[in-house]
Amino acid sequence: QLNHLKKPEWLKIKVPGGEGYRTVKQRLKDHKLHTVCEEALCPNMEECWGRRTATFMILGDTCTRNCRFCAVKKGVPLPPNPDEPRQLAEAVNELGLKYVVITSVDRDDLADGGASIWSESVHQIRSLNPNCKIEVLIPDFQGDQKALDMVLSAVPDVVGHNLETIPSLYPIARSKGNYQLSLNVLQYISKKGFLTKTGIMVGLGEKPEEVIDLMKDAYKHGVTLFTIGQYLQPTSRHLPVKEYVSPAQFMEYKKIGETLGFDHVESGPLVRSSYHADEQAIFQKKG
Ligand code: SF4
Ligand code: SF4
Repeated sequence: QLNHLKKPEWLKIKVPGGEGYRTVKQRLKDHKLHTVCEEALCPNMEECWGRRTATFMILGDTCTRNCRFCAVKKGVPLPPNPDEPRQLAEAVNELGLKYVVITSVDRDDLADGGASIWSESVHQIRSLNPNCKIEVLIPDFQGDQKALDMVLSAVPDVVGHNLETIPSLYPIARSKGNYQLSLNVLQYISKKGFLTKTGIMVGLGEKPEEVIDLMKDAYKHGVTLFTIGQYLQPTSRHLPVKEYVSPAQFMEYKKIGETLGFDHVESGPLVRSSYHADEQAIFQKKG
């Protein structure tokens, strides 16, 4: 389906380049690592990689779910690479990262959902890079508490799990996800005392009131860091963009979120949950 909407000026993005970008790209190749920056065709690569920040994607490059907004490859993944945590820790070290975000494909095929590789990744990064802050953007692990505990026991600095979109759009956008389950995961993380973060995309046809309801739900479930960005259709096989939300509306969401009580709301057309993550998480958890 072709997108009939014309991309506004504020979303025109150039092909990434620059020295920082090339350095990160080479290190990823050396260590056979994947990033969500590349797999999700993120528009901020030149900027983020130029600042030497990247979002690593562990547990392979093939996802067992089929979210229709997402550009990551879908299908039957290879078994996890037990050496991935060490490779990741080394890449973080070589790049001199002070803040790293890790995410993964969903591994519904694995008994522990990949939690052991998650936990090992955090441990290895920390032991080789004691001053690097670690943010994890985790899947729902299908609500498996043991898997969640395993990741949390590695004590990451920030724990995120994305709600992605409003609940009424789950059937078309995130059909293997469950809104309430994701809220429960967030609540669990927050109750364990972690800085808890979530993010959504807009432009899929949601109304502002529905976004505000979602923000309230997130806040009630312990989220303190919230991100909102524009959905961009990765290819014509993905969900079409229903609307390009204006920068003014993003500002409005930021104001509303801050009034609701979030410690930080990052809201703008090009915002992704890992965008300027190092600046979002400077807040200490209250209480
Ligand atoms: Fe990568 Fe996140 Fe930056 Fe995009 S916003 S380039 S996914 S770190
Ligand atoms: Fe993409 Fe994550 Fe959905 Fe997998 S679970 S398809 S990686 S958004």
